[in-house]
Amino acid sequence: MNKSLKLFTIFGITIKVHITFILLPALVGFMLLAEGPLVVLRGIIFTFIIFGFVTCHELSHSLVAKRFNVEVKDITLLPIGGVASMQGIPEEPKEEFLIAIAGPLFNLVMAVLLFYPVYLIIGEGLRGMSFMNVVEEGFSSWKSTLLYIFWINPILAIFNLLPAFPMDGGRALRAYLAHRLGISKATRIAVALGHAFALLFGFIGLMSRWIILIVIAFFVYIAASQEERQIDLKMALKDYKVKDILNEEFISLSPDTPLSEALEMSLRASQYNYPVVKDENLLGLLSIQDLLSTIHRFGKDRKVNEVMSKKVITAKLDESLALVYNKMIKNNTKVVVILEDNNLKGLITLEDIARIYSIESYKT
Ligand code: ZN
Repeated sequence: MNKSLKLFTIFGITIKVHITFILLPALVGFMLLAEGPLVVLRGIIFTFIIFGFVTCHELSHSLVAKRFNVEVKDITLLPIGGVASMQGIPEEPKEEFLIAIAGPLFNLVMAVLLFYPVYLIIGEGLRGMSFMNVVEEGFSSWKSTLLYIFWINPILAIFNLLPAFPMDGGRALRAYLAHRLGISKATRIAVALGHAFALLFGFIGLMSRWIILIVIAFFVYIAASQEERQIDLKMALKDYKVKDILNEEFISLSPDTPLSEALEMSLRASQYNYPVVKDENLLGLLSIQDLLSTIHRFGKDRKVNEVMSKKVITAKLDESLALVYNKMIKNNTKVVVILEDNNLKGLITLEDIARIYSIESYKT
């Protein structure tokens, strides 16, 4: 998800678009090309308005999340919808519930607000508001385009309220069930429903040759499975502490070691990240990738302290592995340095987490 362009920042949240999203107006324009330039124009305007509503939907989630002290870094718009990247999930199921329904709630409110003005402009009574008119007329007139725009919000609300992962409704259902059944069982139910809806979408898509629906079906199926893996992982990790799995044998580097020497060392060590230490103080972390790319670009004469990353995420021996994993996700890093009273104890990497996960899943 790195291929994104920044658009603007609002309420401290950066709005980004994935590059594939930019293809969408072009694709819509291309598909409508045969119907004339005015239809193409309406189609493209319509696409941008969807984009606006999806952004507001994600912002609604994000603002409620912020209220519960869940940090939201950015919102990325993909062709299939928006993703708000929240730093961790709220501890309280009630908070997760409110964050989840905030998005669809925005669309419901918009639908109600827009109904009467659109009803007046179209001026053909209730029958003129029917979704069937959209299906029949598409973007053939400005009125039918307006009706299409009106229908975006009810459709977004209904789709997102389906009680299945990865839809908002699934998240709300999980939060609701978590009270009674515990988070693990609640997640499994929402995931099973997600798979069921995905199969249903896929079936309807195949029957009606509606390709978009087949794409959505794939996306829903995969996202539901991911959600299940996340919760499995958390369950597997929750009983472990850092000290249970920490390998205390590791190599550290001094800040003025030349890169040539660091490279030589790394040939023999089965280590991908090296703490940089001076007088027992942790100064930074050098990854093999940074080492190699610096050597590739600037040669071997530089020193470790010129290349190392100074932003190091740390944890303590008594911290649970689930928490360490959360820190990795939150900070987008694959390695956490373990410090106890400022003494370097070792490293926990994503590979360690994966190892524990496979051991735990083998047990059950
Ligand atoms: Zn949502």
